Amino acid sequence: MRAAVLHGREEIRIQAFIPPPLQPGELRLRIEAALTCGTDLKVYRRGYHARMLTPPCPFGHELAGVITEVHPETIGWSVGARVVPANSAPCLSCHPCRIGQPNLCDDLLFLNGAYAESIVIPARIVSLNLLPIPDHLSFAEAALTEPLACVVQGLRDLQLKSTEHLLVLGAGPIGLMAVALARQTGARVTVIGRNKARLKKALRLGAEVALENQSADGVDHPGLAGQLFDAVFEAVGKPGLWEAAVRLVRKGGRVNFFGGCPAGTVVQLDTSRIHYSALTLLASFHHTPETIRQALAHITHGSVRGTDFIDDEVFLDEVPELFARMARGNASVKTLIKNHPSTPGTPPSDCHHA
Ligand SMILES: [Zn+2]
Ligand SMILES: [Zn+2]
Repeated sequence: MRAAVLHGREEIRIQAFIPPPLQPGELRLRIEAALTCGTDLKVYRRGYHARMLTPPCPFGHELAGVITEVHPETIGWSVGARVVPANSAPCLSCHPCRIGQPNLCDDLLFLNGAYAESIVIPARIVSLNLLPIPDHLSFAEAALTEPLACVVQGLRDLQLKSTEHLLVLGAGPIGLMAVALARQTGARVTVIGRNKARLKKALRLGAEVALENQSADGVDHPGLAGQLFDAVFEAVGKPGLWEAAVRLVRKGGRVNFFGGCPAGTVVQLDTSRIHYSALTLLASFHHTPETIRQALAHITHGSVRGTDFIDDEVFLDEVPELFARMARGNASVKTLIKNHPSTPGTPPSDCHHA
């Protein structure tokens, strides 16, 4: 089987592997759809991910496929089933897991290698975070489950109410999913972002107002003058936007710092504003087995439609060029990576599976 392998900063090669044998509890998928994600772009630019990836290694973590092989000691699944795995599973035994915060598991097991022809799903993900795909859903739509689950988690933590007005900072895939989900609750949504096409998309997803941000590192638009919001969802991950989020929330309002900033960055916040306005400042990380299931339910019921977020597609061989384009700032929300319908026999291995 072939996979896109990250070798370091801005270096991806398509390589052939001998698929590793399955261990008890595991199964193998033929990957039918993988999606690009902002995290993968960050990983490509940096050449590694502190918690998940040390190159050389296969990467990509949003995928869906068909089961092609099941270890005899893996129960509950059979060959031919259409499934979507999450990109992680919690241990269920550490302290965060035991107090109901499995997204913060001390021993999260991550799965990477979506940009490939096949993948082995580890036993823990098979038992906790592998879901059957309803017949009417495409693989590409099902592959949105993981990023959407993070946003489900983020809006749940924000406790958004139907009568409220939410400000979303950022109109990338996460910001746009936040718009779509917030509209499901009935809340009014204003979004501010940098890309005109994505702002138009935000309006189609139900945002009441979409503003073009005039600042690259903060928030600047005359349309925001004097406005304060019940809740703010920061979906970019820049210190200047975190600070702006706190300036744009009303007394008693809530801010979710959803976008992760580069390691080591710090923000400056007005302590009297936080204190006398009784602000709730929070952050969300990752997802849980419960929010993974809720996300797939949203996609299944059509309240979030894959076609709104997946607006480009390439074959696996084109992944190196695709990431080079993304690093130069291509405007697609998410790109679908497909495999050719039938792949001939496995070429010889020239690389060990990471
Ligand atoms: Zn992702
Ligand atoms: Zn745990």
